[in-house]
Amino acid sequence: MNTPLKQHLIDPEVCIRCYTCEMTCPLQAIEHDDNNVVVNAELCNYCMDCIPVCPTGSIDEWRVVNNAYSLEEQYSWEELPEQQEIAADNGDADLDALDEAMAKLLADAHQGAGGKSKAPASAAKPTINLYNLGKPVEAVVQGNFRLTEDGADTHVSHIILDFQGHPMPVLEGQSIGIIAPGTDGDGNPHLPRLYSVSSPRDGERSGYNNVSLTVKREEHGICSNYVCDLKKGDTVSVTGPFGATFLLPDDPEARIMMICTGTGSAPMRAFTMRRQRAVGSENGGMTMYFGARSPENLPYHGPLKKVPENLLKQYLVFSRVEGMPKEYVQDRMLMHQAEIGEFLQDPNGYVYICGLRGMEEGVGEAFEKIAKGINVDWTNLRDSMREEGRYHVETY
Ligand code: NAP
Repeated sequence: MNTPLKQHLIDPEVCIRCYTCEMTCPLQAIEHDDNNVVVNAELCNYCMDCIPVCPTGSIDEWRVVNNAYSLEEQYSWEELPEQQEIAADNGDADLDALDEAMAKLLADAHQGAGGKSKAPASAAKPTINLYNLGKPVEAVVQGNFRLTEDGADTHVSHIILDFQGHPMPVLEGQSIGIIAPGTDGDGNPHLPRLYSVSSPRDGERSGYNNVSLTVKREEHGICSNYVCDLKKGDTVSVTGPFGATFLLPDDPEARIMMICTGTGSAPMRAFTMRRQRAVGSENGGMTMYFGARSPENLPYHGPLKKVPENLLKQYLVFSRVEGMPKEYVQDRMLMHQAEIGEFLQDPNGYVYICGLRGMEEGVGEAFEKIAKGINVDWTNLRDSMREEGRYHVETY
């Protein structure tokens, strides 16, 4: 009989097909087809390099198996198989030792990384991977508007895509992929780049089959420059939707705390619009900490001024305004310890963090300090909030 093996797998329901793990793996053990991203058990040496770079935690899946799942099996999955019973006399001691070693490796890999989360229990069921690499859908550009001011050092665009007669059932918090035309240095078609949708489920304009994106032009960025240069009437190849956990609870009473930087505000805009359409002029129970270099660089700065305070409490912080001290979202959070402490103790409070990878650590430290002030161990609280679908991080 074979010695049991701990096999590294990727959750196809949660994976957003950003291919970051594949680009990171030093052994080329991760590969994809039109449908899924999978791990070759014969090549994976558990180096864990792919764990911290995954924005969703879908990479962090393991099954103890007697015979490794083949690539073909993994390519055919729409969801992960359950853990199978492994016979008790089948190398228990080996497995215990392996578990211990893996726990240590994983803990190291998770330093500063998002970790796995669950969808809120009341969230609507998302559609995943309706359009894939082999079968993208064509959308038509309805509009492309610059969001940051002309003289600002960043260029962020708001792009509206119309899906015409094709279904595109996105939920707020999900992402779609855009395939830039042309080929890469090896002559292969470009892989899609993932962007969070910034419009709510019923359309950028209510009742229209359209979706908006919030995209920053990156120097040398193939897809971001392609998207920011799109003109009305252009057609675009789209994959998705992707993402199954960073979703809104469907309970209008749920309180929402959103913490974001730059274009990480995209899903927060979608959440806010969804809430506004759901509750009208009633209390929205939403709070947002939003960091940008300056007001000119903050996406949706103008429209945000029109959002009523009882729908969304906003704290906009800036890091590069002349004559002002540098301020990050976590600095402002620390000025609101009593309010956030109260929020953390509310079982109906949901936290969403999106934006720069670096913010995760600082925001985590702020929460830790605030939790300490109410005599709560942050790590335990965060882990139980994650388990309950109430703590969500998506950072790149
Ligand atoms: P940016 O303009 O470079 O930065 C936004 C603000 O964050 C600036 O004020 C910046 O301050 C500040 N900041 C820098 N390091 C920080 C830290 N450690 N903690 C807290 N704040 C910090 O932002 P951006 O280029 O728009 O970047 C947004 C990021 O979000 C991108 O990496 C993008 O890929 C990601 N994103 C993720 C998703 C997603 O996960 N679904 C969606 C959209 C965007 P400084 O003055 O120090 O630079």
